[in-house]
Amino acid sequence: MIKRILLLIIFLLILSSVPSVVNADDGPSVLGEEVELAFPGKIIFYLEAQSAVDIVDARLHYKVSRMNYAEVTSEGWPDFVPAERIETSWVWDMRRSSLPPGISVTYWWTIEDADGALLQTTPLILNFDDLRYDWKSITEGPLAIYWYEGDEHFAQELMDASQRGLLRLSSDIGAFPEKLINIFVYASANDLRGAMIFSQEWSGGAAFTEFDTITIGISPGNIDWGRGALVHELTHMVVHQSVFSPYGQLPTWLDEGLAMYNEGEPSFSLQSRLDEAVIEDRLISVRSLCSSFSAEPEEAYLSYAESYSIVEYLLANYGQGKMLNLLTLFKEGSTYDEALSQVYGFDIYGLDTRWQETLTTPVVQTEKLWLHPALIAVLSALGTVSLLAGALALEERDWRRTRA
Ligand SMILES: [Zn+2]
Repeated sequence: MIKRILLLIIFLLILSSVPSVVNADDGPSVLGEEVELAFPGKIIFYLEAQSAVDIVDARLHYKVSRMNYAEVTSEGWPDFVPAERIETSWVWDMRRSSLPPGISVTYWWTIEDADGALLQTTPLILNFDDLRYDWKSITEGPLAIYWYEGDEHFAQELMDASQRGLLRLSSDIGAFPEKLINIFVYASANDLRGAMIFSQEWSGGAAFTEFDTITIGISPGNIDWGRGALVHELTHMVVHQSVFSPYGQLPTWLDEGLAMYNEGEPSFSLQSRLDEAVIEDRLISVRSLCSSFSAEPEEAYLSYAESYSIVEYLLANYGQGKMLNLLTLFKEGSTYDEALSQVYGFDIYGLDTRWQETLTTPVVQTEKLWLHPALIAVLSALGTVSLLAGALALEERDWRRTRA
């Protein structure tokens, strides 16, 4: 009896290993397969295939690793005239859906002939690397920094600033990276532009939150600006990682406010914009700051200044635990008013009223404003004007980022 069962199992195993529909000799076969990478603009996939009868369909399937709940496989349909032997290609034009450097793309072809015989090629992995530069890298805990200009010391300084930023983030807000974050440090804003599709957009840095990747332009001579700018982008990344869900979205004042708060004290040009707005009674409402900031520079600067101030108000008065609760509720899909009411006991309007009450009085502000030209003079005398330029460049970068 046992022998019979064994024989039956062996017979079934043989049956299952025999191709049931298509004879491999007759169906489509691949003669050649190639990929050409033209960072950052496009990837070209080439295919050469043949079959005993006309090939009527050939498609490229590809997917990228990204922070997403549903794994999406996309398709590319190359042009060709049905024939027994075809040579074709499909171009992934990054102007439609761009990728940051270092991302892995998994791809394969399916090829069908007129008899309905189908071939699926073995999935291959392609790294979308910026091969124009000779990258070096260091990794520490959840951060990997890639750079090509400057020595090890330069990269280590950026790494140390980033690690301190992460520490502040976990002690002030309770958020920490959930996945490895890749940071590509280009040697200048110009080099960075060369890595971006929409190069007309001026940008000093960008956080590709879906891809756990940051690209930023920092020359070894501009490291003071670079530290703050990198921590700013890193904060966006970690906050997005910790609140990412299909439901949750952060109000812009919270997203930008946390990034600025973690970066350190705001530049005094930002602070003075807030002071002036208080005096002139033209603060932008917290509700308006929930959506994208204005493209108009002055309005955008004020939006950043207010965002910093609101986040500082919430953290200073209600602490880290409540901030983490707030982020968690957003992750679960609560509306802005619901989440605020549940955690703090007031809605957006209530937050606006309470926060505005704490802003200092106009008299003190006037004195503070009067001090600014003197401060500028002192800084100029010390030869630290570049610090100011860095601070302004950062604002510019943020403003552009919001526009993009
Ligand atoms: Zn930002």
